Amino acid sequence: MEVKVIEATEDPEVTICKAARNDYLDKWIGDMTFEEIMADIDADDEDRGSVKEQIDSSMKSDNNSFDIETEAKKQVLINHLLEHGHFGPFEHPHITISVKGISRSCMAQITRHRHVSFDIQSMRYVEFDENNPEPGEAYIEIPELDTINPAGRNVSQADAYDELSDDEILERRQEIYHNSIQDSFEEYNELLRLGVAPEHARMVLPIGTNVNMVFTLNARMLMHVADMRAAADAQGEIREMTENVLDIAEDWCPYTFEYYNSKMKNRKNRLAP
Ligand SMILES: Cc1cc2nc3c(=O)[nH]c(=O)nc-3n(C[C@H](O)[C@H](O)[C@H](O)COP(=O)(O)OP(=O)(O)OC[C@H]3O[C@@H](n4cnc5c(N)ncnc54)[C@H](O)[C@@H]3O)c2cc1C
Repeated sequence: MEVKVIEATEDPEVTICKAARNDYLDKWIGDMTFEEIMADIDADDEDRGSVKEQIDSSMKSDNNSFDIETEAKKQVLINHLLEHGHFGPFEHPHITISVKGISRSCMAQITRHRHVSFDIQSMRYVEFDENNPEPGEAYIEIPELDTINPAGRNVSQADAYDELSDDEILERRQEIYHNSIQDSFEEYNELLRLGVAPEHARMVLPIGTNVNMVFTLNARMLMHVADMRAAADAQGEIREMTENVLDIAEDWCPYTFEYYNSKMKNRKNRLAP
């Protein structure tokens, strides 16, 4: 799997702050500078120290271009909004992500999120090498197959644990998985050869078949998706994809996702944001 950002709102946290300050100012923010908009936000020495530390430790090339006072105010306001559940302003900045090589299963899970926009690679235009479908290229590999007691739901029916050694079990799992995919790809190509249209022949392809996807979501939705899909009980593949997106988000929207990762991620209550 590869995850890349292809487009994102520039200065997302300036946008979040402007939107939030709009709610409490009697003047119109359209006529104000960012410094004027943020004038009433109080940042103390601790806040200034904290943002300086973050800026110094980040990959930003020219740290001198950061005004510590303004940055500290941004962080204070963003932390305040998140702490008090004022999530609306986080809906303004958007990010577009491109993902290469996830399973159709992972795609089915992520596309349940209704406030995310998607483009999904069509199977009509994908060719599969029937003799040698490459694991990782044409279909996903499942790291959990190599773990004798994988974490996950419904793994209690493993009767074979009494009959086979651990090595035999691991070998047999790989054999079944890869042979089953190979058979499906061969049968798919055979249907095409017999004149069946790709949109019908694809019904025999497995749910582990790879797909590329582009999706766009706002910062609030990203936190919501992470609440559900970076959770310990989420499937490994979607968790990996979500963690990759969270890494990107930490660079894109640093104060927001610093707060999210340290104070909100993995909490029980998933009703917001
Ligand atoms: C571990 C796990 C297992 C799952 N298993 C299954 C399963 O077996 N079967 C299955 O069908 N799904 C399953 N799901 C999917 C899950 O039920 C949700 O449909 C999916 O995660 C989308 O999230 P969401 O409901 O928060 O909606 P989103 O589309 O992400 O919307 C975000 C929020 O907007 C609000 N919202 C959006 N639309 C509406 C609406 N129409 N009415 C009211 N509020 C709305 C809700 O507050 C919602 O939380 C599973 C999810 C997880 C994480």
